[in-house]
Amino acid sequence: MKYTDHHVHTNYSPDGEGKVEGYVLKAKEMGLEFVTFTDHADFGTKDKDFMVHIDYDKYFHMMKELEEKHNIPIKIGVEIGYEKNQKEEIRDFLGKYPFDFVISSIHYGDGRDFYLGDFFHGKNQNQSYMRYFEILLEMVENFHEYDVVGHLDYITRYGPFENKYYEYEKYKEIIDKILKKIIEKGKGIELNTSGIREEINDFYPKKQVLERYRELGGKTITIGSDSHRNIDYHAGIKEGIALLKSVGFKEISYFHKRIEKKISLNTKQTSLGY
Ligand SMILES: [Zn+2]
Ligand SMILES: [Zn+2]
Repeated sequence: MKYTDHHVHTNYSPDGEGKVEGYVLKAKEMGLEFVTFTDHADFGTKDKDFMVHIDYDKYFHMMKELEEKHNIPIKIGVEIGYEKNQKEEIRDFLGKYPFDFVISSIHYGDGRDFYLGDFFHGKNQNQSYMRYFEILLEMVENFHEYDVVGHLDYITRYGPFENKYYEYEKYKEIIDKILKKIIEKGKGIELNTSGIREEINDFYPKKQVLERYRELGGKTITIGSDSHRNIDYHAGIKEGIALLKSVGFKEISYFHKRIEKKISLNTKQTSLGY
């Protein structure tokens, strides 16, 4: 088993440009055993590009055809953009399609968007980050129809702040509540490697959060690049695996038809060199 990439956006995502077939060919070239896609389905967003959802009947059909053409299994996941007033709509949506894997992410809150920047208006850095974690806590306490929480501390990607870095200790208490709830509900987190390609130059979440998650008994963790372009497919997976090993994780997870499967991190090196 070679470690595959479990967070991938194609040009079916409003902000993605990666061609589905391009990813499939890249995965085959790398000798991966399967490909996973997790395009966006945002609920309650104020960003008009994200209000329109994919035609999933056509999407599943297209994936099936590519799977047969290239003879490599394709796992169809989705990245939900969660909003607390849309729980029922999200549940209905997830009930309609046979997804393999569901990431639930916070991309906005209080009717304001991170990407568009209005979330940060009238808040200083500490208030913005704290509010983000409060919104995330509300999600894990009241919504359980997902497999892993997306990019747990990625609020640092946005915001008009000169130094986007955050001190883990300042938010330890609320992060503990979030992690404990995720574990209690039998859910997981992901290690999202996109941050190492960005200004913050760190993983989402950062090492201290991963250490704490493990210390609290967290075992379910997937890994993904959050690639939006073919060129970023599998980026940072090697570094992410090394980080997970250094924190003491023995296995990583992936999902097939919403059932968790584990891959050992202790097997001898794969042909990819790690
Ligand atoms: Zn996201
Ligand atoms: Zn994403």
